[in-house]
Amino acid sequence: MSPTESLYKSLEAAYDHFNTELFNGKLPEVIFTVQRQNGLLGYFAPERWASTKGTKCHEIAINPSHIGSSRVVEVLQTLVHEMVHCWQHCFGKPGRNCYHNKEWAHKMLDIGLQPTSTGHPGGAITGQHMCDLPIEGGLFLDSCNRLIQKSFEIPWIDRLALSKEFTDHLGINVEKLIDTYESPNAEQQMFSAPDSVSVSTTLSKLEDSNSPTLGISSNSFLNMTYADLMPEDAFIAKPVSKKTKHTYICPSCQNKLWGKPDMNVLCGDCGVRFQ
Ligand SMILES: [Zn+2]
Ligand SMILES: [Zn+2]
Repeated sequence: MSPTESLYKSLEAAYDHFNTELFNGKLPEVIFTVQRQNGLLGYFAPERWASTKGTKCHEIAINPSHIGSSRVVEVLQTLVHEMVHCWQHCFGKPGRNCYHNKEWAHKMLDIGLQPTSTGHPGGAITGQHMCDLPIEGGLFLDSCNRLIQKSFEIPWIDRLALSKEFTDHLGINVEKLIDTYESPNAEQQMFSAPDSVSVSTTLSKLEDSNSPTLGISSNSFLNMTYADLMPEDAFIAKPVSKKTKHTYICPSCQNKLWGKPDMNVLCGDCGVRFQ
């Protein structure tokens, strides 16, 4: 299997598994896209695609940038969260402007995910930007365990993993669980690219010794981060944020100016070097 095939097949395998176990197999097939989008873990875009024969297809996007710093279960949460949007589009009444409404919240609860607006227990169950937490003993966690027992894994992980700090810095939900429900017309957000990601693609496979089939319980596997699961050199160091301009001050008159670091500038009034 090619790397492309194995990556996308893993997403499809998880989709099929959850579709059968949590949605009675009722969800239609979707087109998966794996793409880096600032601030999104994933999205569901109804009828985003059309074939030459005229059929339409929904899209579920997964952002690989956040997988490296996520626990296995969190990646599966993102997928199932988007699947609930898909379910609501097909069988319910989605909220306006991508609002996570009560119907969506109740479906989440039914399948074992606790919606929370704060990312912590006790948050509101509806809202514009929503997080979710797996419910102990709920359908979702049970289903995740069965998926892991089937030797499910995401075979390729983006080596340039965005850390919590990084998402935080961008003003994005610190719980990393934010998603945006996209309509097909939401072009602006759809195509905004991360501004500091230049190195791409993945190289390292999960090591055999970390396979859940070799002694680790599926539950502890679910709670490991991909950083735990990957070889030490798998991840590329986080990109240093673009160096902000340096402030130079004239030690004599205290005038200030701003420029790139390591400039050699003199104050014309005082004849001394800015520091
Ligand atoms: Zn959502
Ligand atoms: Zn001066």
